[in-house]
Amino acid sequence: MATTNEVEDGLKMIEELTTNAEQIQEQVLGQILKRNAGTEYLGRYLNSKTDKKLFKTNVPVVTYEDIKPYINRIANGETSNILLVEPVIEFYRSSGTSGGQPKWIPATADVSNLRTLFLTLLASVMNKNFGNLHQAGKRLEFMFTKQDTETPSGLKAVSATTSLYKDQGFRNNVSKFYTSPLEAIFCSDTNQSMYCQLLVGLVQRDEVVSVSSIFASVVLRAIKLLEDHWREFCSNISSGQISDWITDSGCRNALSLIMKPDPQLADSIRNVCSSKSWEGIIKKLWPKTKFIAAISTGVMSQYVETLKFYGGGLPLVSGVYASSEAYCGINLEPLTEPSNVSYTFLPNMAYFEFLPINKESLTMYQVDTEPVDLVHVELGQYYELLVTSYAGLYRYKVGDVLKVTGFHNSTPQFQFVERQNVILSVHTDKTTEEDLLKAVKEAKILLEPLGYISRGHTSYADTSSIPGHYVIFWELKEKEGNDGQVLDPKIMTECCYRMEESLGYIYGSNRKQNAIASLEIRVVKQGSFDALMDYYVSRGTSMTQYKTPSCINSQEAFNILDSNVIAKFFSPKTPM
Ligand code: AMP
Repeated sequence: MATTNEVEDGLKMIEELTTNAEQIQEQVLGQILKRNAGTEYLGRYLNSKTDKKLFKTNVPVVTYEDIKPYINRIANGETSNILLVEPVIEFYRSSGTSGGQPKWIPATADVSNLRTLFLTLLASVMNKNFGNLHQAGKRLEFMFTKQDTETPSGLKAVSATTSLYKDQGFRNNVSKFYTSPLEAIFCSDTNQSMYCQLLVGLVQRDEVVSVSSIFASVVLRAIKLLEDHWREFCSNISSGQISDWITDSGCRNALSLIMKPDPQLADSIRNVCSSKSWEGIIKKLWPKTKFIAAISTGVMSQYVETLKFYGGGLPLVSGVYASSEAYCGINLEPLTEPSNVSYTFLPNMAYFEFLPINKESLTMYQVDTEPVDLVHVELGQYYELLVTSYAGLYRYKVGDVLKVTGFHNSTPQFQFVERQNVILSVHTDKTTEEDLLKAVKEAKILLEPLGYISRGHTSYADTSSIPGHYVIFWELKEKEGNDGQVLDPKIMTECCYRMEESLGYIYGSNRKQNAIASLEIRVVKQGSFDALMDYYVSRGTSMTQYKTPSCINSQEAFNILDSNVIAKFFSPKTPM
């Protein structure tokens, strides 16, 4: 996106879409049903009819497990109209959240056209707010790909972002818009890939206008890599030679075209990196940067303070709400604080329905009502998102909880609340992802003034002894200095208590009755959450789409964190 006209066209389109949301949603559903009412799946419920009322009364709300047998048949090579008429060109491999079961979501030519449109509209919003970014310079965006796997019928299964990076349109423009060379994006070793992307970003530091990744955790991982290796980066830049451990030939070739000895540049980077505090390091290293872009809502909200610390006042832009199942919404006010970000749904992306949820005394249960249409959601209400897509998903539970925060024209705007069903429970308590994020946030308030930032947290319900108790794994870092952590036990036990206090009435009464034992914080070594990420990436998750699990339920993941514990603290008293 370069010209003013294109930006204006994009903004105009957003206005039109959001003004005519109801009509567009009807059209989208009409088109989907017209094409697919006769498929084996929909045929069972609709008998080839395309009536919306029939769709609403007959077609069931489903989860991935319900449609998995149909997806498996497509993956196994059955081509007759099983879920959809359109040819499936590939599958998006998704885990929803890391630790979830792998899913294969069908993708069609229509899906990739919608993706292009969604990204164009997003670019209009960004250009409106930050000026013409492509004219101003390049983006340092950390992008990673996962190798394709093949279904028995020869269809490719790739992560949705790998599919995007493979797209010819993206490939043609990558060198114009991004600092990262394609070869580094496609390097299968994520460590080498990240090192090379960061190295090029440093070499081209005066061109960089934004620092980004899809999710916030990856930007922080890159900063950690720099913290651990900045002398090596400087030495590479000074000599124009790449470290020997970068063995990937694609990366070496691409970087050899970019690197030349530049001792002066190396010195200036060394100067910045050798300062005691890394506060504002992103702004100092990339002085033309206008913002950091990375999804920082939901489970990623745990990284906001830390990213802000490194960003030194740069706006943190949480731009999109999307999933492998559908592109959903754009943040029309990119300068909004992450805690207040809402995503405006684009009604042409899919047919969206919303299952009302009641949030009562910190527990959620689904109200026994029918899903409502996009334009009929109510302000302040919580909903679970259902998607009916062009690619064979019908009334499909994405697994996300959203809250209506406002409207843009006639289209609702949603705050991302949490993943559904990520729950810690040891007795009658039910602690959701959002509850946990709030509890840790409360405890962080105590550590902030002492100069600690958080590198990640997750939770675990330890029921190995009776009564069971909550364990919070937490990686903390001193703002200044590295690793010599001497955590004050008094403050840390107070952190445990603050978390317990934040967990609400049901948790508290369980504690009083001794049905739950004291909450425990297990502080882990630096790099433990990177090791956790590596574990999930090795299991098939794409690093670009990795989401820190809110709650650990795999033994291997547990072992990674538990073997890195450096200190344990327990809540000293029962919460009020
Ligand atoms: P995947 O399809 O595996 O990349 O995962 C998509 C999931 O990522 C969504 O269903 C959400 O749970 C999460 N997600 C996507 N966008 C956001 C966002 N803006 N804020 C919070 N979580 C998000």
